[in-house]
Amino acid sequence: MHFIDVILPIPLTKTFVYQVSEREAAFLKKGMRVAVPFGKSKIYTALVYAIHQNAPTAYKAKEIDQILDRVSVVSWQQLQFWEWIASYYMCSLGEVFKAAIPAALLLESETIILSNKKFQWQGEDFFSDEESLVYEALQHQSSLKIQDVSDIIDRKNVLPILKSLIEKEVIQLKEEVYETYKPKLLRYVKMHEDYSSDEALSALLDTLSRAKKQREVVLKLFSMEAMTKKPILVKELEAESQASSGVVKSLIDKGVLQEYHLQTDRVQYEGEETVDSKTLNEYQSQALTQIKDQFETKDVVLLHGVTSSGKTEVYVKLIEQAIAKGQQVLYLLPEIALTTQLIKRLQQYFGGMVSVYHSKYSNNERVEVWNHILKADGKAQIVLGARSAVLLPFSNLGLIVVDEEHEVSFKQFDPAPRYHARDAAIVLGKLHQAKVLLGTATPSVETYHNAQNGKYGLVEINRRYAGVLMPDIELTDIKEKHRKKRMKGHFSDRLIEAIEEALELGEQVILFQNRRGYAPILECQECGNSPQCPNCDVSLTYHHYRDQLRCHYCGHAMAMQKSCIACGSSDLSTKGFGTEQIAHELADLFPKAKVGRMDSDTTRGKYSYEKLLTSFERLEIDILVGTQMLTKGLDFRKVSLVGVMNADNLLNFPDFRAHERSFQLIQQVSGRAGRTQKRGKVIIQTYNPYHQILQQASVNDYQGMFKDQINERHQFTYPPFVRIIKLVFRHRDYSKVNDSSDWYMQALKTVFKGSGTQVLGPVFPAIARIRNEYLKNIIIKIPAHQSLNKSKQAILKIDKSFQAIPAYRSVRIIYNVDAQ
Ligand code: ADP
Ligand code: ZN
Ligand code: ZN
Repeated sequence: MHFIDVILPIPLTKTFVYQVSEREAAFLKKGMRVAVPFGKSKIYTALVYAIHQNAPTAYKAKEIDQILDRVSVVSWQQLQFWEWIASYYMCSLGEVFKAAIPAALLLESETIILSNKKFQWQGEDFFSDEESLVYEALQHQSSLKIQDVSDIIDRKNVLPILKSLIEKEVIQLKEEVYETYKPKLLRYVKMHEDYSSDEALSALLDTLSRAKKQREVVLKLFSMEAMTKKPILVKELEAESQASSGVVKSLIDKGVLQEYHLQTDRVQYEGEETVDSKTLNEYQSQALTQIKDQFETKDVVLLHGVTSSGKTEVYVKLIEQAIAKGQQVLYLLPEIALTTQLIKRLQQYFGGMVSVYHSKYSNNERVEVWNHILKADGKAQIVLGARSAVLLPFSNLGLIVVDEEHEVSFKQFDPAPRYHARDAAIVLGKLHQAKVLLGTATPSVETYHNAQNGKYGLVEINRRYAGVLMPDIELTDIKEKHRKKRMKGHFSDRLIEAIEEALELGEQVILFQNRRGYAPILECQECGNSPQCPNCDVSLTYHHYRDQLRCHYCGHAMAMQKSCIACGSSDLSTKGFGTEQIAHELADLFPKAKVGRMDSDTTRGKYSYEKLLTSFERLEIDILVGTQMLTKGLDFRKVSLVGVMNADNLLNFPDFRAHERSFQLIQQVSGRAGRTQKRGKVIIQTYNPYHQILQQASVNDYQGMFKDQINERHQFTYPPFVRIIKLVFRHRDYSKVNDSSDWYMQALKTVFKGSGTQVLGPVFPAIARIRNEYLKNIIIKIPAHQSLNKSKQAILKIDKSFQAIPAYRSVRIIYNVDAQ
């Protein structure tokens, strides 16, 4: 007997055994997909992991439903990498599988309703009105879906009716699996081969002498075919010959023209010829040489180059070399939506070799990119993508570029696998023996530490390209300004003056406020009450545009309150402020300026971000207000002023990375100013102008920041001196969260006693309830010199005992390795 081990896209950590026939076993390969039954009625897409002849001992293996692939859709290097992710980040292989594979390749299982052949007509009264509608529909159609039934009887909840029809043995349910990826087909035409000879063609034209329009179409197609070897689209022919689709159709019907379909990519690069990459200046060339030298002995090199030093052009040279060797290149970015400019730039150099793997792409589009990478067919030789692109089916990686390596968004937060794409990329590089280049103007403390102690190579560029000066950063004390009554709304006189100046010169302004919405909190001046989310322990945020109060954690919304819910007073005022309010104040202060706003509220649509950027680029917007989205590698020529509305709410984050992050944000957002000859200006408004981090950011003192931060990390035992594993306990029942986390804590204390590993907690986080679930955290700090693997094994053992306690089984525990 033959069996296969498969991975199912679910959180259970083990693989599952299914039975296959001898022929199937001979055909199947690791990495092919099969549909398998699971549980009572579910069908899942599973991935073949092993093929063998060992029957499972504990249960009888079910047979597979069907084989879905003729070749593997997952490469073996990829599987190896997924295994590392699952083991390092403490999740199941199935969770990695699910995160990696485009949803269109995971079959969907949907209920299909069929009529029951055994059923015999029992008279009108047997059915309710609604039931008879369904019955009737099934006389005309062989099957219905739940949605169809809902449409037929015009009501949402159809389950009671279906249940009744099943009991009356009128219908049957069938769980059907189907493949959702459909290649896009386009309609093409060609001359029928009967008319390939000159005589046949002229005879044809004679017979068409009276059908003038048809004759024109034939002549046009003839000349188009003469001009190009490429297939001709029906649409093109219609446009070229200005004929209606009816004319073309009648020619097809007559057999003069032949219609055919070809599969085409949805995501196609349609640019012109590529251009040569730029010649590097002396600093860039020097950096390139150093990087290549260091790659001789190191797998990972950090390129620390100030903003606008031209790092991208250096990457491009390295990419050219990898391509020349026929290798694949992975270019990772923190957020793909923010990279329209970069995509354009790379496509200019590399044309159709660049593929983008994008969460905003449709499922089908993602399958196409996946297949190009899997086949290594040259169309995806360079893959540009965010986090999840590390999970793609590479087989021959030569180079990985991690741009903006310091970005915290490289770490996946929810759901599992909670991996860090930069760290994972380094492991991926090892697997492929590829080189990894980390690039940034503001390295993360961990990476810089690794570069300093020689684990990574280090190359620096300290000058901006073309001698452009670093921006001039000025700190403005708004405590003082308030005292002297020099504030208008949230703007100091200094910032207003600078904006005026820039606008007068026809230059653009970027304003940074790290909060969306209008004002976070509405507060009663009488009793101090502020409206809370009913599902989460947070105050609701006021959104002016919709006149609503909204929860940023669960999306709960209610109409704006006119009076206090607690005491009825109408003396309500707002506390704090967001991007929306800044945009409003700007409209009053600078009525002639065109103001744009960029935050997650205004950039939800597929191309909304691009549209906003394009109109900023075209100078249709004078002042752009935004959240940290603005800080990402954008390159605008006309921006001379950047304002940070309030630096303090960055610094006050309760997080060991808050200071490092503030430095990075300020440096990055400042980097948007003055990218041409004129020196850019940055104004930072703050209540604490003497804060060390702000001082360091204002004079570009990365070294100083790093020294302070690494000392603090050492003193308070944070990474890179320890590895942090964070456990989050979640349950709707308050005391269950308490009891279970206490139990777990005791177990951890016993296991790690005297080992140097610290266990902290359990504590409620700042927001202790989200979507009606209580949360409690335990932090485990494992010293860098201790075996992470052994520690994880010990934790997993505790987990096993925990799961065996009936009272705790419904408590969810999230394991977050290298938690941020
Ligand atoms: P960084 O990524 O370091 O912030 P970029 O690579 O975006 O910097 O370069 C900044 C600007 O300088 C871009 O507009 C880029 O086109 C230009 N630039 C960089 N290097 C060159 C070069 N060698 N030749 C011409 N222009 C360059
Ligand atoms: Zn009140
Ligand atoms: Zn909420």
